[in-house]
Amino acid sequence: MKLSRYGQGIAKGMALTFKYFFTKPITTQYPEEKLQTSKRIRGNELVWVPYKCTGCATCAKYCLQGNIEIVTNGQTPDGRYAVEKFEVDIARCIMCGLCVESCPFDALYMGMSYELAAYQRGDLVLSKEKNTIGEDKQPSAYFRPNLEKVRPAQTLLIERPKYGL
Ligand code: SF4
Ligand code: SF4
Repeated sequence: MKLSRYGQGIAKGMALTFKYFFTKPITTQYPEEKLQTSKRIRGNELVWVPYKCTGCATCAKYCLQGNIEIVTNGQTPDGRYAVEKFEVDIARCIMCGLCVESCPFDALYMGMSYELAAYQRGDLVLSKEKNTIGEDKQPSAYFRPNLEKVRPAQTLLIERPKYGL
């Protein structure tokens, strides 16, 4: 009786081994290959849209870390403050998203990146140019549901129903 129970265990184990032996590997060769993160990721960057920003500094006031430094100088032809400096210390940022939520003009977004790393802390103080929206700096749909449709679908393992995760 006992022997047959042990036999069942081995058979089950071998069945599982064979199942995965013939299953396509799910390994991803990062960084050459990258998975798509959640559309609403709070990545380790902010994305600033200069033509929407009025220089009101609400985001800077809301930041509990005091990470955002804004300097304005005069006015733009359409009556906004001309933003001279929009600097973010991303090393101290806790990615809480409060600055994004507080912006009354939809000019600030969380970014999609999770790869910002540097040898020097000072290199993570990002200038206005480095915070500006661009081809390689895309906003996430966090707190901006209108972006849900345009962000690519997540491909992280957790979204692969095949694996029951
Ligand atoms: S995400 Fe949070 S900590 Fe980071 S800059 Fe915005 S308010 Fe500050
Ligand atoms: S709250 Fe928005 S509009 Fe005001 S300074 Fe910050 S990003 Fe610009």
